[in-house]
Order: sequence, then structure tokens, then C-alpha cells
Amino acid sequence: MSGVLAASLGGEPAHLHECSRAGCRAAAAHAIVWRNPKIHAADRRKTWLACDDHLDYLRGFLADRSFPIEVIPVEDLPR
Ligand SMILES: [Zn+2]
Repeated sequence: MSGVLAASLGGEPAHLHECSRAGCRAAAAHAIVWRNPKIHAADRRKTWLACDDHLDYLRGFLADRSFPIEVIPVEDLPR
């Protein structure tokens, strides 16, 4: 099996690990898993990705709204 084929079938697209901040194309190091209790069911989770520069910005945006959030390394995201 060629390496090229294996990559196209099993590799993740690069944008999956890009920072979620608008206009930022940096690689994300952190994942912010959050939920809006007013509109999301208890088992729903949203995930934002953040580079080192924008982790505080994105986390603060959600914390201001009192949303439950959890920050995990991007490598720990479930597939
Ligand atoms: Zn960023």
C-alpha cells in the first residue's frame, strides 16, 4: 500500500487543527470544549480550536457568558 494513498484515506485535513479565531491561520495547540446550556442539550458539545495567542481570548469569550468550558490539548481530542 502506498504512503500517499494511506494519507489520503486516513489523514486529517490540515484545517482541522487551525485556530478558530476569525482570520487566524495558526496551528491550534488547544481545544476548548464548551456548551451553551440555553440552546444545547446536556450531551451536546461544541469545540473551538485555539493557538497559543488566542486561547485566552476564546476562553474569555465563553467564560464571560458563563458557559461550561473545558480546555484540553488538541492531541487529546477524540477522533
Ligand atoms: Zn489564533
